[in-house]
Amino acid sequence: MGQIVDLRCVQCDRRFAAGQADTCSDCGVDEGILEVCFDLAVAAQSLTPAALAERPDSCWRFRELLPIDAEPHPGLLHIGGTPLIEAPRLAAILGIARLRLKDDGRSASGSFKDRASAVGVMRALDAGATEVACASTGNAASSLAHCAAAVGLSANIFVSQRVPEGKLAQLLAYGARVFRVQGTYAQAYDLCTAACAHLGWYNRNAAINPYLVEGKKTGGLEVAAACRADPADWVSCSVGDGCSIAGVHKGFVEMHALGLIDAVPRFLGVQAQDVAPIADAFEHGALDRSGTGQTYADSISVPVPRNWRKAVDAVKRSDGTIARVSDDAIREAVRWSGQHAGLFAEPAAATAVAGIAQARRDGMIPQNASVVAMITGNGLKDIAGAMTAVGRPFDIAPDIESVAAIVARGA
Ligand SMILES: *Cc1c(COP(=O)(O)O)cnc(C)c1O
Ligand SMILES: [Zn+2]
Repeated sequence: MGQIVDLRCVQCDRRFAAGQADTCSDCGVDEGILEVCFDLAVAAQSLTPAALAERPDSCWRFRELLPIDAEPHPGLLHIGGTPLIEAPRLAAILGIARLRLKDDGRSASGSFKDRASAVGVMRALDAGATEVACASTGNAASSLAHCAAAVGLSANIFVSQRVPEGKLAQLLAYGARVFRVQGTYAQAYDLCTAACAHLGWYNRNAAINPYLVEGKKTGGLEVAAACRADPADWVSCSVGDGCSIAGVHKGFVEMHALGLIDAVPRFLGVQAQDVAPIADAFEHGALDRSGTGQTYADSISVPVPRNWRKAVDAVKRSDGTIARVSDDAIREAVRWSGQHAGLFAEPAAATAVAGIAQARRDGMIPQNASVVAMITGNGLKDIAGAMTAVGRPFDIAPDIESVAAIVARGA
C-alpha cells in the first residue's frame, strides 16, 4: 500500500527500481545495502493526524509507509502497537528528567523483530512463497517462526550453537524446522542464503532484504506519533547489526517529512564494549571486518555487522552519538529496569537503559533530557542469562523465624 519510488544504495547513492535488486550490483552484497524510498507526497494525502487517531494501534496504522500491497493478513493484525511507559523512578536513577520505555518485550513473540518479520511474511505471501527462512541468533528467528505460523507458512531456521534455550523453545513451539549449525553464525548465515537459492524459500535475512527495515521503522513511527505533543530529546536503542536503530530513525525522519512531528530527536546508539564495531565505525568512518568478541547481551553480539553504514548514518544525521557499556553495566540495567520500572528486559534490551547511564556519565546527555528507550526484547527469552544478573532467592526452612531473621537482616 506504500508507494515505492525506488531503492537507494547507502554507499554510492545509485538508484534501483523496486524488484530490480536487493543489494547494489556496483558495491556488492557486503557494502551495497539498499534503502527503500517512498513517495511521501502520496502518503501525506491519507496519512493525516485524523487518520492516525482513528486507526487501530498496530504497525499497520502506517500502511502508506510500508512495502506491502495487500491488506495485512488477519493473523498479523496484532503486531506493533506496544505501550510507551512512563518510568519516573528509573529516570531518577539514570539522572535524567524524563524516561519513557517503548516496551516491545510485550510483542507477540517477545521482541521488536516481530515488526520486521510481519512485513517479511506479508511479502513472502505476496511473492507466492510457501516456505520462509532466516539465520539468526534468536529473536529474528522466533519472530519469523511466530509470524509464519500465524499465517500458515512453513519456517526454516538456521541457528548457531549459542542460541539461548528460551528462544530455541519458542522456535520449536511455533513448529519451525530448526537447523542447529555446527559452526559459526557466519556459516549458518551463508548456509541459509544457499538454501533459499536452492529451495526457493523466501529469505528473511535483514541485511540482504531491504524491505524488513521498513517493518522496524514502525517502532519509530509509533514512538513519533505517541510523542507528537510531547517530544523526546533523545531516543536510545541498542545496536547489533544496526538495522533496528536505522529503522527507528527512518520512522522519525518520515514522520518529520510528512509534517506530523516538528523535529527528529537525537539518537543514542548503544553497543556492548567488547563487541562495538559500529561505535568504532562511527568514530573512524569505516568498518573493521576482522572483528571478533562476544557479549552477555546475545542479541547484539554481532562482530561484523552488515547494516553498520545505515546505523552510523542515522546516528550522525540526528546529531547523536554511540555509547559503549560493559556487560556488568548491562546486568545492572536488567536489575534496574525490573526493580524501578516493573519491566523484565532481555540483556540486549536493557542495554538501551545502560547506555543512558553511560551517556550521562560521559556528559553526552544533559540532566534535563527527556529520553525514550527502545526495550527490544523480553527477559523471559533468556532465563539463564537473567539469573546471572538478578540475585538469588533466600533458601530457608519452612518456619516464621527464618523469615523474620532474613527480614531483620534487612536483606
Ligand atoms: C536484534 C536485536 C537488537 C539489535 O538490532 P540490530 O538490528 O541487530 O541492531 C536489539 N535488541 C534485541 C532484543 C534484538 O533482538
Ligand atoms: Zn552502490
